[in-house]
Amino acid sequence: MNNDPPSIVGIDLGTTHSVVAHVDESGRSHPIRNSEGETMTPSAVLVEDDGAVVGRDAIKAAQIMPNQVARDLKREMGNDPWSRSFGGTNYPPLLIQSLLLARLRCDAEAELGRAVPQAVIAVPACFDEPKRRATIDAALLAGLKVKSIVNEPTAAAIAVAWDRARHQTGDLTSLMYDLGGGMFDTSIVRFQENAIRVMATGGNAMLGGLDWDKCIARWLDAEFSLQQNVRPSESTAGDAFLLRESEEIKHALSSRKRAGVRLAWEGRVLKTEIARERFDEFTAHLLDRTRFIVRRLLNDTGLTWAGIDTIMLGGGSTRMPQVAQMLHRESGIEPDSSAVTGESVAQGAAIYAAMLNSRADNTPEVLHQTNLSVTDVNAHSLGVLGADKQTSSRCNHIMIPRNTALPAAHTTCYETIRDGQRSVAFEIIEGGDARGKHSTRIGRCVIDKLPPGLPAGTPVDVEIRYNTDTIVEVKASLRATGHHAHVRLERASAMTGEMWSNLRELFFSLDPNSQGECSAD
Ligand code: ADP
Ligand code: MG
Repeated sequence: MNNDPPSIVGIDLGTTHSVVAHVDESGRSHPIRNSEGETMTPSAVLVEDDGAVVGRDAIKAAQIMPNQVARDLKREMGNDPWSRSFGGTNYPPLLIQSLLLARLRCDAEAELGRAVPQAVIAVPACFDEPKRRATIDAALLAGLKVKSIVNEPTAAAIAVAWDRARHQTGDLTSLMYDLGGGMFDTSIVRFQENAIRVMATGGNAMLGGLDWDKCIARWLDAEFSLQQNVRPSESTAGDAFLLRESEEIKHALSSRKRAGVRLAWEGRVLKTEIARERFDEFTAHLLDRTRFIVRRLLNDTGLTWAGIDTIMLGGGSTRMPQVAQMLHRESGIEPDSSAVTGESVAQGAAIYAAMLNSRADNTPEVLHQTNLSVTDVNAHSLGVLGADKQTSSRCNHIMIPRNTALPAAHTTCYETIRDGQRSVAFEIIEGGDARGKHSTRIGRCVIDKLPPGLPAGTPVDVEIRYNTDTIVEVKASLRATGHHAHVRLERASAMTGEMWSNLRELFFSLDPNSQGECSAD
């Protein structure tokens, strides 16, 4: 590695593919090629006793050792740690993501010829707070400091805006619609001369191309059973086989109206075909879910389709003709599939990273000239779980409604109930209905070490805040004196020191470039 100053990159850590990008001295963003010469690295990790293999080789290995290859783990980020078993050992999804990030970092260092200690990472707009924090932790484990988290549709919008700044001006309101391998994300974005303003955002972290594959897999399994009296889905290897073949059939149906099926399982041959119309029919309920989310966005912004100028498609699953057809039927607008490419999210994250850096100090001259301001919103409401005064049933006191411009803060006043009370505690939740059902538990907030001798009814102001990364922060003060009170946020998904050291140990035993050293020279 040479002595150039360290670099900052943008990362799209996708369910299916990951991309890393950077901004050069002339202010242009470029995706970085990995050691196989490709800009997209498959998000797959082969876990073996002597180390992990990331990317294309892991995908290849999945055919012969499906139990040892971790894929699609992005969906499980922030869930119970140690929840997935590979090759007989349980690994946390966070560790697998960190191995992916370490590979991306090493590839970037090799290509740029300098250290890459920092990144802006794009995450789905619909990612809840624990998933965002788990992503930051995964990066830390991979030796990357996260300068900021940016929402994927916003990153795509930044890449588009950066390009527009060179060619055209004029305001534009767009619907960004990104259907990837595992997740769906959508935003309504207002492009102005030097600003991007996200008006509303939403999505589903459990809805993506994989679910379309599963529909075909179920159909294939039933056809096998009907024609050949065998059910491949009864074994893990058979399941992996069905999903692999289903994805191929799905891809074929994007360019052709019918796809022929010739498959063999345990020596039994299935011969059939499927028409695109049939596929569209049995996946209609999935597409409908995206339609409802888009409608809710319009509702939230108070816009009708007349207020939307363009629809920009992103994500591999938008290659299914059913997507553009549905959006066209809804809106009368012909969706644009050329503005956002497979690399746009990473490039937008890289531009955002360079912008943040240039505000702080040096870096490309051109970034000073184009002063793009970016305002994002939160996909989920942030609330405090309380009791209804009249009915005493549980209720969700919403502090920051969804689609509020970030950063956002809300201050509530709590009163102590007893004389001499030294602490106040409450639960913070994200999303959920009026009673807090279907919410994500952020954790228990404890304001303690209050001075002794306070009378009952002493007001304590509590400020709950989302920063621009949509991470929760809490501050408290005694109203009478304005003095800060001590706050502890006991996060539901927090990792203990022991968990961290176990993770580190595992990471170093699996990372091919152990101790974070890359092979760049
Ligand atoms: P992610 O951002 O989640 O990593 P991508 O944007 O790379 O995902 O999209 C991956 C998804 O796109 C996969 O489910 C894949 O099957 C699907 N996909 C890619 N090409 C096509 C195609 N031609 N037709 C239909 N689906 C496709
Ligand atoms: Mg994506």
